[in-house]
Amino acid sequence: MRVELSGSQRAFREEVRDFLQTSLPGEIAARVRHNQGVGKEDLTRWTRILNERGWAAPNWSVEHGGTGWSLIERHLFDMECRSAHAPQLSGFGFNMVGPAIIRFGTDEQKDYFLPRILNADLWWCQGYSEPQAGSDLASLRTRAIREGDEYRVTGSKIWTSSAEHADWMFCLVRTNTQVQQQKGISFLLIDLDSPGVAIEPLLAFNGKRLWNQVFLEDVRVPAANRLGEEDRGWTVAKRLLGDERLMVSRVSENKRMLGVIRDVMGREPLPQGAVGQLMRELNALEIRLAALESTSLRLLTDADAGADIGAEPSMLKFKGSELVQAMDTLLFEVIGHWALPLDSSGGKEHPGPEYAEFVASGRYHHRGYTIAGGSSEVQHNIIAKQVLGL
Ligand SMILES: Cc1cc2nc3c(=O)[nH]c(=O)nc-3n(C[C@H](O)[C@H](O)[C@H](O)COP(=O)(O)OP(=O)(O)OC[C@H]3O[C@@H](n4cnc5c(N)ncnc54)[C@H](O)[C@@H]3O)c2cc1C
Repeated sequence: MRVELSGSQRAFREEVRDFLQTSLPGEIAARVRHNQGVGKEDLTRWTRILNERGWAAPNWSVEHGGTGWSLIERHLFDMECRSAHAPQLSGFGFNMVGPAIIRFGTDEQKDYFLPRILNADLWWCQGYSEPQAGSDLASLRTRAIREGDEYRVTGSKIWTSSAEHADWMFCLVRTNTQVQQQKGISFLLIDLDSPGVAIEPLLAFNGKRLWNQVFLEDVRVPAANRLGEEDRGWTVAKRLLGDERLMVSRVSENKRMLGVIRDVMGREPLPQGAVGQLMRELNALEIRLAALESTSLRLLTDADAGADIGAEPSMLKFKGSELVQAMDTLLFEVIGHWALPLDSSGGKEHPGPEYAEFVASGRYHHRGYTIAGGSSEVQHNIIAKQVLGL
């Protein structure tokens, strides 16, 4: 199925292109382009540029600072941003806790947190997973005991990305042990400066601090920082996942990567005997990407028209994350031996071309895509049960 853009959608795309050309700082785009990773300072700067234009939170309702765009327009915006090598804003604030606060927050919570997320004044991390609770998240054991106007929270969260940069953590805790697992969970917003919070680094296999383990020992959290009702945190958590499931296809990221591969193939002297094979691999990836984009646009169009699209976006999560990894593999092959050194962050000079320096590191990083946010096996289960009815 082919989805054609309307005239106004094409005009919208032009407007976004113009804005990116004039407003995206070149040095930030270059760092994204070469997989060097952007720091908090760059992200804060880019967030504020977008916020000033009113485009930082396309997925929020207009009254809270959103754009009022349709899902297709959001998709186009995302696509243009990735193609221009703009960094992605912090998903924890903009895609997760922000929409959850809009839907479930009190007026005080909205007034305090939302403007600070929009302007990158407050940074967030996600405290869901625990050492014994990953795919089976509902079995989490971090305990919150109500004492007057506060909760006393004790337990530990693991794989907490970016906790070292975060000011706050949105967190699932057990408030009731006497009921079915899902019915005894609450959703708390925890200030990471609170006494009793300790954050320890966990290194990924590219040697970088990708995650943390967050230890909570008798941490006092005001009951006013609970989102939604007590023991109803599972509803908040599910809604939070549901809101963003449609935008997880990674189409824009895959397009960006395909562009990088093409660019490198144009510069690298490819081994004579391998050119045909590499071109076939490139074409195969392009076909997979076209299929992913069509499926994504079909679901977005249906959702914009008000259809309930159920669990189908699990296909997008599964296919999109697998495709990023396939792109990495081809990029690695095309760059050849220059891609082998990890990176020069240890102070060593990288001997190869600029675009090769962070390829290995990026490839290792992307291994997590098929695990984070629900592993591929779990997506298979969802598709089998809820889409195919098996
Ligand atoms: C890059 C990255 C970033 C992350 N960031 C965060 C974060 O910021 N905050 C946070 O809370 N968590 C985060 N996580 C954790 C992530 O949510 C969990 O790793 C994920 O939910 C899987 O849980 P687990 O690691 O405990 O593995 P397990 O649940 O123990 O799974 C182990 C293996 O068993 C398979 N498996 C499990 N259950 C089933 C089943 N029912 N059927 C078939 N196979 C099954 C899984 O697919 C996997 O291969 C992150 C993970 C990664 C990789």
